[in-house]
Amino acid sequence: MSQNNPERTCVVCRSKKSKDELFRFAEKKGKFVFDKNMDVQARGAYVCKDANCINRLSKHKKYNISIEELGKMMAALKKEKKDYLNILSAMKSSDYLVFGIKMIFEEIDKIHFVIIADDISEKNDVKLIRILDEKKINYAYFSDKQKLGAIFSKKEVNAVGIKSKKVARGLL
Ligand SMILES: [Zn+2]
Repeated sequence: MSQNNPERTCVVCRSKKSKDELFRFAEKKGKFVFDKNMDVQARGAYVCKDANCINRLSKHKKYNISIEELGKMMAALKKEKKDYLNILSAMKSSDYLVFGIKMIFEEIDKIHFVIIADDISEKNDVKLIRILDEKKINYAYFSDKQKLGAIFSKKEVNAVGIKSKKVARGLL
């Protein structure tokens, strides 16, 4: 989090986050609209880039925001969440990530979501999927071993496990 990126509070869950982790909405003629580019010169507020918080915003008493505007937010969320690399990079020094299938196996009971490199070896893929299915852990194929490795300053990483339920939900 850089110092040029001051924190704002999500009106739903009250957590403080940097602006790039939040969506802004602003008042226009008595109604709140999604301020996608954060440039509407009007009173505004923030909500997490999180499906849960956006859903709960629809029931917020203080902010009258239409379903259409919330729909735009969800669409923007989907577009952004596809970029797992950015999310993983932002989280790389947290305790929420484990990388490589050896570590994933060791901590399997704490893992909620796994990102698997597209070019993982067939042998490892079969091994990994077997246990993920057994434990009912969601997963997605994304990017390649080199790019996942680069996040952790490793040559190659074949899979990344996410131990935070909240983050895992956001990635789905
Ligand atoms: Zn929130």
